[in-house]
Amino acid sequence: MRCLLLLLLSLSLALCDVLAQDGGGEVTLVVLGNAQDGGYPHIGCTREDCRNLFLRPASNHHVVALGLVDAESGEQFLFEATPDLPRQTFLLAEEEGAHGGMPDGIFLTHAHWGHYAGLGSLGRESLGADGVPVYAMPQMAEFLRTNGPWSQLVDLNNIDIQPLEKDQTVQAGQRVAVTPIRVPHRDEFSETVGYRIQGPNRTALFIPDIDKWSKWERSLEAEVAAVDIAFLDGTFFDGAELGHRDMAEIPHPFIVESLALMASWPAAERDKVHFTHLNHTNRLLDPASEATRRVLDAGCHVARFGDHHDL
Ligand SMILES: [Zn+2]
Ligand SMILES: [Zn+2]
Repeated sequence: MRCLLLLLLSLSLALCDVLAQDGGGEVTLVVLGNAQDGGYPHIGCTREDCRNLFLRPASNHHVVALGLVDAESGEQFLFEATPDLPRQTFLLAEEEGAHGGMPDGIFLTHAHWGHYAGLGSLGRESLGADGVPVYAMPQMAEFLRTNGPWSQLVDLNNIDIQPLEKDQTVQAGQRVAVTPIRVPHRDEFSETVGYRIQGPNRTALFIPDIDKWSKWERSLEAEVAAVDIAFLDGTFFDGAELGHRDMAEIPHPFIVESLALMASWPAAERDKVHFTHLNHTNRLLDPASEATRRVLDAGCHVARFGDHHDL
């Protein structure tokens, strides 16, 4: 009897703990895009699938971005400011529990076109936004402050730059902690970061753009082990994909390389992986492709527009 009482007590304490952490409303990550900077369909692409999408645009292909909504407070955040930002902010605001309107913050990863160009939509020629907080690392912030047309967004207070430092955690609202993590990448205009996004119950890793995993000072396996879900650079499936471009100039971890690296991982770790930032040549864009089948058979996933994950 005493054991039973103790068990009931510990169960109710555990339940209280969960409720205290969770607060009742969900914190949700939503995939608002999974394409590489150039988008899909891609400029200059005359393949049949691109032609069909240019002629009859589908509504589910956008450049890589994540939305974050705290349904308890209504707070909403965006990771990446892509060329598709107008629709992505609309969809974020439409999410259940979101307060609507503009994001309470936009987290930038780096100064490559597909990851920040959407900021232009907040400027004088478009929304004329009022002080949208934009979280940026030091070089990224300096790039925005000192180069037109972005500097005008700062001067007119369309955006309000919130400084980030590597490995320094900031709050995204009351219940989510965000930590920028430096990653190796072509850093012509800014440093590049990924993010660890820690909700009340679960944590996500977001690394849309990186050179080969072997160039990273950190262990990918350890970083994935430390989280519950990982959105990782899946730009190219394999080396044969680009043909006319020198793959050495465009270093990314190919899907086949990542799968080989992860083959020795426990199944539960592989199950956390969702590939994103897919180039228009990557057959993973097609959920029915053999490439997608290979990723699923390997125990991993492809991030799809509209996917929801509780944090
Ligand atoms: Zn990119
Ligand atoms: Zn990049």
